[in-house]
Amino acid sequence: MHELGIVSGILETVTAAAREAGASRVVAVSLRIGDLREVVPESLDFAWEVLTEEDPITCGCKLEVEEVHPRSRCLACGEEFDHDRFHVRCPACGGRDTHLLRGRELDLVSMEVES
Ligand SMILES: [Zn+2]
Repeated sequence: MHELGIVSGILETVTAAAREAGASRVVAVSLRIGDLREVVPESLDFAWEVLTEEDPITCGCKLEVEEVHPRSRCLACGEEFDHDRFHVRCPACGGRDTHLLRGRELDLVSMEVES
């Protein structure tokens, strides 16, 4: 379950930032995750629940996730198009030579702390 690794990395960043800011608790964290990260929401929630409880500073912290759907540009004709995880093919010319514009995000968008 790679969600545990993702959550643990995020929490490391979050708690370090919170401690540096002198916060006593992290109330909410907002993430942006691309579909190509293949994160399973249920597993992410589970990992979040387990790992946030390990540290009093993140205990009870809420998680918000914004999913980002993949989008690519065709290198042959320049068309930009949305696609899913498995089918990356230009709808205009049928080309398979594409450049991914988004869909691989794993960003910490914001966090809310209490001091
Ligand atoms: Zn094309």
